[in-house]
Parts: sequence; structure tokens; C-alpha cells
Amino acid sequence: MNGRREYHKGIDLVGLDDITVYSVCGGKVRNAYQKDGAGNYVVVTMDDGRRVFYMHLKSFNKKTGDTVKKGEPIGVMGNTGNSYGAHTHLEIRKETGSESLDINEFTGIPNIVGRYYYEQAENEEEEEMTQVKFNEMMDNYLKEREQKGSSEWSESARNFCERNGIIKGDENGNKKYNMFVTREELAEIIKRVSEIF
Ligand SMILES: [Zn+2]
Repeated sequence: MNGRREYHKGIDLVGLDDITVYSVCGGKVRNAYQKDGAGNYVVVTMDDGRRVFYMHLKSFNKKTGDTVKKGEPIGVMGNTGNSYGAHTHLEIRKETGSESLDINEFTGIPNIVGRYYYEQAENEEEEEMTQVKFNEMMDNYLKEREQKGSSEWSESARNFCERNGIIKGDENGNKKYNMFVTREELAEIIKRVSEIF
């Protein structure tokens, strides 16, 4: 879920009822923090040397050097490091290096590389603001404002301005009290004010 599809080599798990993260295997614990990557993460090294990573944790239940049994809590799910929403990135790697292995063995869920990211990216594209959408939004906003008419608190000021010809409305007599004032309108208002005082 880090936005780089080619580097996503595990699965992203989201805790709905329980955000405790349990070890999927027994082994020896190491915990660490990586600012722009895994955030707070735990690595459990199995007897055969393979390592299971749990990334983006909020906090740790185990410290470096501890041993852990399968099913024991190792931390709490979080949103630390390069993560956009609380989840646990679960990944299994070889004895050394960063080559990842299929976690299917532990989870029964095959690696779906970058799936979470893809779904998110598609949604983001749908949400993307275009000029057409912006204009539409603005039109609706202005229409809404126009329909609001004028507020009570400004009544005497409005009456004063209308009486003195400072506000005359547009060519159709619409005063548009809730609308923005353009520079040319402002110039016209200032000129009219200077004429009456
Ligand atoms: Zn991930």
C-alpha cells in the first residue's frame, strides 16, 4: 500500500474488529523504526532463517531479542512510515536480502501484488478534479448562493444603498446580495458612493 506497485511484495491486512497483530509463526523478534518505509515494524525470524515482516505498526508488544510463539501478540496495527491508512503490511522474506516469498503458506491468502494500491489509485482518478468538474461545482455553488437571497442583518444597509442608488442591481434588476462582487461592480459602487456624499 505504499503507492509503488512494483515494490509491493506482501499483503495489506486491515483490522476491523481487532487491531492486535498476532505472529503467524514462532521465532525470534526484532523491532525497529524506518521513517519513510516500514514505520514501526517487527521482524520474526523463524528457525529456518526466513523472516516475517509486520510493517506500519502503531506500537510493539515484543522487543528485540524476545522469542514469540505462533499466535502471540507482537504489536498493534497502525499507520506509521509510508502508509496511508491503518493497516499491516505482512511480508515474508528469505534468510537475507529483500527478496520476498509467497505468504500463502501462512495466511492461505496468495500475494496479490499491489492490489490495494491499484484499487486506491483508480478511486483517486475518479475523484480527480478537472476544469469541467470545477466549473460545474462553482455553478452549483453560485446558484445556491443566489437562491439564498439576502440576510436580515443587512436589511437597513441594503435599504440605504438601494435608496441612494449605490446598489441598483444588474440589467434585470437582480441585486444578487449573496453573490461575489466583481472589480467592475466594486468600481461602479465606489463611483456612486462618491457621487452621493
Ligand atoms: Zn503494503
